[in-house]
Amino acid sequence: MSIANTPQALLGMKPEEIAAVFAELGQPAFRAKQLVEWVFAKRAASFDEMTNLPKATREALATRFVTRSMQIAKVTGSADTTRKFLLKLHDGRYVETVLIPANPALYGGKSDRRTLCVSSQVGCAYDCKFCASGLAGFTRNLTAGEIVEQIVQVEAHAGERVDNLVFMGMGEPLANYSNVTKAIEILNADWGIGIGARHMTVSTSGLAPQIKKLADFPLQIRLAISLHGATDEVREKIMPVNRKHNLAELFEALEDWNARRKQFLTFEFILIENINDSLDQARVLAKRARGVNAKVNLIPYNTVEGLPWVRPSEPQQDAFLDVLTKAGVTATLRREKGHDIAAACGQLRLKQETELGIIESPIPAKRITIGAGG
Ligand code: SF4
Repeated sequence: MSIANTPQALLGMKPEEIAAVFAELGQPAFRAKQLVEWVFAKRAASFDEMTNLPKATREALATRFVTRSMQIAKVTGSADTTRKFLLKLHDGRYVETVLIPANPALYGGKSDRRTLCVSSQVGCAYDCKFCASGLAGFTRNLTAGEIVEQIVQVEAHAGERVDNLVFMGMGEPLANYSNVTKAIEILNADWGIGIGARHMTVSTSGLAPQIKKLADFPLQIRLAISLHGATDEVREKIMPVNRKHNLAELFEALEDWNARRKQFLTFEFILIENINDSLDQARVLAKRARGVNAKVNLIPYNTVEGLPWVRPSEPQQDAFLDVLTKAGVTATLRREKGHDIAAACGQLRLKQETELGIIESPIPAKRITIGAGG
């Protein structure tokens, strides 16, 4: 089934869109409100549950809309560790969503937050060299409904509410701008999923023009940058996107963001031995972070057998961190592997789609290590 002939997902619709449907059906406005309540507050998974709507209305709705558009195909991990959900989409493709238990080091900084790392695209066009999501290229954008449904599916399965969201799963969220921002509006709304805007972080590989656009977005979401290199020469080895939007352009957009928004920025920086872990890089990074008031999350690379890149030694990681903190930059170093945000996000989907023959095995498969999404 192509995305074009898919019934529309109610989870991706705003009340005014639902009201327009009811007006078209010649139904009173209060029926639209009832439907919004079934979809979001009551999380109805089928039209049969919507008992206060007339049967004929439910049947009419069922010909055009769906309450759910994906299924959980696989879950790995357990309740007290990071859990990865492989979700099968209506067109047979897969995405991943990662539920991270309370961890004080993560975004938001409080220990009782359950964080969900969501995907925004099937595949990714940006080919960051540490990431599984980009290995088989870009397939398609997720719809707003598919983004919202990741939260709904995981909450129903886990039996708990998610209170922190990071757009760090598969895909570059700012390359799917309209669907991602619509999903954020639905996720934030009182009539919708009700997650505070300050508890949502969009992580980008550095699409400078879209960062400028996002600075006008009214909700007070947070922004994280997958930086991974403090100079163009180093960053280009890790992130090909830097050839299109170099650091000068990126930092101009970040200064613009700072001038218009109050939220702190976060830089994600995967430390890779002899690639970006020199103290010179640390010094340049410190200067850049101070310049735009950014916090830095250092993530030691997970070494994979057969690959040239290596995790730096712990003394080197500590020395790098030390340069940042002595320069007055707020920085964290996350050593624990299991809790790395979006750890290896994209791997499950890649394995599943390769096994099913949906995509050809992207070589070198062993390159897969950690996805920082976006
Ligand atoms: S890190 Fe993000 S932008 Fe880069 S390839 Fe992976 S999903 Fe795409």
